[in-house]
Amino acid sequence: MSAPANVGVIGLAAMGASLARNLARHGNSVAVYNRHYSRTEKLMKEHGDEGKFYPAQTVKEFVDLLERPRTAIIMVKAGAPTDAVIDELVEYMEPGDIIVDGGNAYFKDTIRREKELRDKGLHFVGMGVSGGEEGALLGPSMMPGGSDASWERLKPILESIAAKASDGEPCVMHVGENGAGHFVKMVHNGIEYADMQLIAESYDLMRRGLGMTPDEIGDVFEQWNKTDLDSYLIEITAQVLHHKDPQTGKPLVDVIVDHAGMKGTGTWTVQTALELGVPVTGIAEAVFARGLSSQSELREEAWKQNFAGPDGRIELGSESREDFIERIRQALYASKIVAYAQGFNEISVAAKTYGWNIDMAHLARIWRAGCIIRAKFLDRISEAFESGEANVSLLFAPFFKQGIENSEADWRKVVAAAAESGVPAPVFSSSLAYFDGLRSKRLPAAVIQGQRDLFGAHTYQRVDMPGTYHILWAEPGQEEVKMSD
Ligand code: NDP
Repeated sequence: MSAPANVGVIGLAAMGASLARNLARHGNSVAVYNRHYSRTEKLMKEHGDEGKFYPAQTVKEFVDLLERPRTAIIMVKAGAPTDAVIDELVEYMEPGDIIVDGGNAYFKDTIRREKELRDKGLHFVGMGVSGGEEGALLGPSMMPGGSDASWERLKPILESIAAKASDGEPCVMHVGENGAGHFVKMVHNGIEYADMQLIAESYDLMRRGLGMTPDEIGDVFEQWNKTDLDSYLIEITAQVLHHKDPQTGKPLVDVIVDHAGMKGTGTWTVQTALELGVPVTGIAEAVFARGLSSQSELREEAWKQNFAGPDGRIELGSESREDFIERIRQALYASKIVAYAQGFNEISVAAKTYGWNIDMAHLARIWRAGCIIRAKFLDRISEAFESGEANVSLLFAPFFKQGIENSEADWRKVVAAAAESGVPAPVFSSSLAYFDGLRSKRLPAAVIQGQRDLFGAHTYQRVDMPGTYHILWAEPGQEEVKMSD
């Protein structure tokens, strides 16, 4: 009997099961395998009638169910489990077969795996998948990285199951070679961290600063969703804030413990940015804000210290509450532009470093649907890259430059009010500081270079002539010497 399945999915937890169902619903014949067979049985029992599934009890059986050249998609825990599954598959797969890793792998692992499998004649595709369980089922945004040949074969399958943007374009593209797909998925998640933290800071300014209720703030987010801020995250925030705890009747947000969890992609985005020398200050502050929220013992002790300081109430003076809310909206918009600009900057520096040819305009387009950061203004980001206006920085594209200039005064007022009232706004503040640093003709880095030369003879360069210089600080004359041309 010829092998019946044109594609297979290994790992049938939340993501894998949903992706397998999505594939089957779109006419694919799907081989399915999970380490513990109970998950496979559950999928077959609950959804086996949704399309053509071929359950396997062993990896060999799974591979034998796949049409040659084979296509297997792995959806298991990232890290060692992914390596374990690849090792098993490699035993039975043959040159020309494709292994896709749809988990949240670290891009350097993907680069390593792609090389190892290429040496065995196999295609390895590291594919970022965004949109969570619902996205995987109804249409995710997918970011595959790998060879051109593997993309040609995967394209029809992936385009059929991808989310579709409002103009019908499928939210999937060949991002680039080896680790490019997992890299952009990582930065996507980093931007998501910044975006979520900015929304949380806006909430805090309204809740503590202006004394509003979660319901009132939910209404504000609903209104904001009809503006330039129109996005999935703003929409679901309104939903969260309107939700009542079924047990107590209180706003749900008031009974949720205020420790933000994380699984690592935000941290990787920042670590990688540090390695590449790209300041992603908004994303970094968002990761640190989650870290601080989870330092419960330290926070408890700090609370007991009863430090002197403002209580979080914002003094509006003669300004109306509505006017200040509009200032927060403007600050959110400007800070969000900065977070995206920083994220795209990290991607473009990585593309140069790792030799990826990434079409930024297309990347922005595949984030328009199916993924967590989907937002109206991704259309504008895409246009800015398409026209070349954003090639150096998104901030320089006229649409975003104008956006920042329109918001700038409000942004400063909000950051100042947050500092004066004692409401922490780390991403609002750091985004503004980044913007001011970027547009400054001179930075105080010259002082740092002077300090470094004094304590460590680290040398400096001059603004008025070429060469590298050092002051003989310990010598009586403290003369300057030219160290090199
Ligand atoms: P989990 O990350 O919870 O992983 C569970 C799956 O991994 C199960 O199928 C489990 O098999 C399998 N597994 C774990 N260890 C091994 C091993 N050593 N050998 C073989 N299989 C193993 O599942 P999710 O569905 O949440 O996520 C799958 C992947 O997708 C992950 O990499 C995740 O980071 C990524 N992802 C998740 C998103 C989400 O919203 N959840 C969004 C985007 C990507 P068993 O049942 O036998 O234990």
